[in-house]
Amino acid sequence: MKVTVFGIGYVGLVQAAVLAEVGHQVMCVDVDQKKVDNLKKGIIPIYEPGLTPLVEQHYANGNLQFTTDAQDAVAHGEVQFIAVGTPPDEDGSADLKYVLAVAETIARFMSEPKVIITKSTVPVGTADKVTAKVQQTQASLNKTVEFDVVSNPEFLKEGAAVNDCMRPDRIIVGTYNNNPIDLMRELYEPFNRNHDKMVFMDVRSAELTKYAANCMLATKISFMNEMANLAEILGADIENVRKGIGSDPRIGYHFIYPGCGYGGSCFPKDVQALIRTAEGEHYQPKILQAVEEVNNRQKFKLPGLVKQHFGAELAGKTFALWGLSFKPNTDDMREASSRTLITELIAAGATVKAYDPEAMEETQRIFGVSDELVLVGTKEAALKNADALIICTEWQQFRAPDFDLIKQQLKNAVIFDGRNMFDPARLSKKGFVYYAIGRGESV
Ligand code: NAD
Repeated sequence: MKVTVFGIGYVGLVQAAVLAEVGHQVMCVDVDQKKVDNLKKGIIPIYEPGLTPLVEQHYANGNLQFTTDAQDAVAHGEVQFIAVGTPPDEDGSADLKYVLAVAETIARFMSEPKVIITKSTVPVGTADKVTAKVQQTQASLNKTVEFDVVSNPEFLKEGAAVNDCMRPDRIIVGTYNNNPIDLMRELYEPFNRNHDKMVFMDVRSAELTKYAANCMLATKISFMNEMANLAEILGADIENVRKGIGSDPRIGYHFIYPGCGYGGSCFPKDVQALIRTAEGEHYQPKILQAVEEVNNRQKFKLPGLVKQHFGAELAGKTFALWGLSFKPNTDDMREASSRTLITELIAAGATVKAYDPEAMEETQRIFGVSDELVLVGTKEAALKNADALIICTEWQQFRAPDFDLIKQQLKNAVIFDGRNMFDPARLSKKGFVYYAIGRGESV
C-alpha cells in the first residue's frame, strides 16, 4: 500500500520504518529541510534501538522516501498519516496548529480520495476539526474530493518504539462510519496475524483512549511517588511496599516504580491537556490535577535531598550526574527530571559534571556550553573530585557500577539515587551515605 507520513519525529519515523519493513511504500514528509537532507545521507535524527538499520535498508531499497515536497507527498499515499507534534499551548492545552496545517495541505493538494489518519495525540473533537479544515480548504478551492478521517492514536514507548510498532498490544481505530475499515485492516494486516489486535470504535472514544492510557500510567507513577514520600516520613521502605502490593494481580508489578518524577514528551503534556479539556467542559478533574502536582513536586526531590545534606548554599560544590534523558534508551530530554535538578543545583551555586550514554548532544543544545555544566565522555570521568554522585536515569550501564572506584574518585562517599537502583544495606556496608526515593537515608 502507498502510505504518506507527515512529521518525521519519534512517532512518524518509527511508524514509517516499520510500515516499510512489512512492504508498504512509504513517503515521509517534513517541513524541516535539514532533517530530510540528513536522513537522505543516513543520519538519523533520534536515538531509538533498532531504528537505524531499518531506515538504512528501506531507504536503500526505495520503500522509504524522504521529502519536503508536500504536493508529491499528498499525491503518493492513499492513506495520509498526520504524525506531527502537538505541544502544549500557553495554557497547557494541546496546540493543534501543526495538525491543522497538515490537514489544510492535504486538502489543498489532494486530487483523488484519501484516508487521513491522525496518529498525533490530539484532544477529543480534533477529528471534527480536521474534517472541517479539509472541507473548508476544498470549498475555498472549489473542489470536492472524497476523504475519510480516522483517529489511530499511537502507543509506542520511546526506547522500545520499533518493537512496540512491530508488535503492538492493540491498534485503536476510530472511524465515523464503515468506509475506511477495510483499508485500515489491510494497512495493519501484517501486524495483526497472531490474534486480532484491532479495536474499532467511534473517533471520540479513540481520541480519549490515548489520553486515558497515558493519564492512567502517569497516575500510577504519581501514586507511587506519594506512597514513597509517605514511606519516608513513616519510616517504611517503599521497595518492600512496592513488592508487597505488586504481588496482587489486580495491581501488578508493572509501572509502580517510585522515582524523581516522570518526564518525556507525552505524560506531562497529555495529563495537562486532558485537564484543560475537562476544565473547558466545566469539570474539575481532581485526580489528574493531583497527578500533575505530585509530579511537579517530585522533580524537586533530588535537589531537596542534596540541599538537606550539603546545605542550601552549594557554591564551590561539584556534583557528578549520571543520566540526563527522561528515561533509558532514548536521547529525549523533554521534561526530564535532570533538567530541574541541573537548574536547581546551578542556581544554588554548584557545578554539575554530567554523563549520559545518548543525551549529551541534546543536553548541550538545551543548556549550551557553560562552566557550571560540564559534559564528560564517560560515567567515570564525571566522578573525579565531585562532592557526590546523583543518578537521574536508570540506564543499564549504571546498574552495577564499580563502587570502590566511585568511593575513591568522589570527595565524599555520598550517592543520591533518583531511581532506587541499589540496595541501601549493601551501600551502607561499603561506607556510602545513600539517599534513594522512599527509603530514608542509609548511612
Ligand atoms: P516530534 O516533535 O519528534 O516530531 C514532529 C515532527 O513533525 C517534526 O519533525 C516537525 O518538523 C514535523 N512537522 C511539524 N509541522 C509539520 C508539517 N506541517 N508538515 C510536515 N511535518 C511537520 O514529535 P513526536 O514525539 O514524534 O510526536 C508526534 C505526535 O505523536 C505528538 O502528538 C505526540 O504526542 C504523539 N506521540 C508521541 C509519542 C512519543 O513517545 N514521542 C508516543 C505516542 C504519541
